Amino acid sequence: MSFKVTLLPGDGIGPEVLSCAVRVLERTAEKCGISISFREALIGGIAYDKTGTPLPQETIDRCKESDAVLLGAVGGKKWDSLPAAQRPEKGLLGIRSALELFANLRPAKIERALRADSPLRADIVEKGIDFVIVRELCGGLYYGERGRDGGDAFDTMAYSEAEVERVARVAFEIAKGRERKKLTSIDKANVLDCSRLWREVVARVAADYPEVEVSNMLVDNAAMQIVRDPSQFDVVLTENMFGDILSDEAAEITGSIGMLPSASLGAGRMGLYEPIHGSAPDIAGKGIANPLGTILSGALLLRHSLGCEEGAALIERAVSAVLESGLRTADLGGDATTVQMEEAVLAQL
Ligand code: NAD
Repeated sequence: MSFKVTLLPGDGIGPEVLSCAVRVLERTAEKCGISISFREALIGGIAYDKTGTPLPQETIDRCKESDAVLLGAVGGKKWDSLPAAQRPEKGLLGIRSALELFANLRPAKIERALRADSPLRADIVEKGIDFVIVRELCGGLYYGERGRDGGDAFDTMAYSEAEVERVARVAFEIAKGRERKKLTSIDKANVLDCSRLWREVVARVAADYPEVEVSNMLVDNAAMQIVRDPSQFDVVLTENMFGDILSDEAAEITGSIGMLPSASLGAGRMGLYEPIHGSAPDIAGKGIANPLGTILSGALLLRHSLGCEEGAALIERAVSAVLESGLRTADLGGDATTVQMEEAVLAQL
């Protein structure tokens, strides 16, 4: 089988970490008997410098023709004073919406070797942290009507049944494929009408997935439970703003920001994959960035867009083994370079 992947290196450490992920993907594809052709396109500050826009039409077209997109990071001081529409981050929001990616996946997993790096108590971490947050990405408060009128301001949260159903289906499909098959839907149904609609739709979709155990939790309780006993979660489904907040909370309890991957998915198999960190201008060009978040994003790409679970698991096992061996980049308190980390993952593969 052969696949097309568009690479969007972007700015800062983006190109450094992306090249590691590409070499890991190439090696994994070889082992799994699939072929991936990579093509680069411009996004972010570098795209602005070369074309006058952070998201050239050519980039959108190229992404639409591919099976998946792998992105490094965008942004940097150089572009901070540009008007909002020309800033690098606009490129990122633009590509997500051009590709109609409405479900954002953030795995929150703590590697055994990194348990001591979690800010949580050892006895809590010992029980294991391995869950995925599925966040609705295109609706809710961030997209509703808003305005200012003198001393008053308002924002509107709105959801349609169709918007809830499509993201719920993504979450149920993921839960179905996981060992524990547990889904927790998080809302504020004791106050918000949007949340009551959310619950109704989730219950309806759940009927199509009898093998998945479903429960509802209020968002304030969820924020508490994530630090009290994160081992109880397997797949967490929630709306845009709650997901925004809870996914950062979940990232924090798992250790370094350099470690975590993410995926944005739409109705088909096409997806956009990227580490959760930014362009880290403070360490760009020094060769010390942690490439594991991007390498693990490559694993998600294999799993969700190319249907290659074997390859995804191979990469995840290789990363765990490298961490077990004690190798660490500076963000994890070690002195390994970006390339040494990449080479260690390749050697494990
Ligand atoms: P950041 O994630 O870039 O960096 C925060 C801190 O974490 C820095 O000290 C950095 O050195 C460190 N860090 C991040 N990734 C690392 C890695 N892989 N290895 C080692 N250390 C790592 O966040 P920031 O400093 O708030 O933002 C910098 C720029 O990135 C800004 O222009 C911001 O707008 C942009 N940004 C982009 C994205 C994205 O592309 N998805 C996300 C967040 C921020």
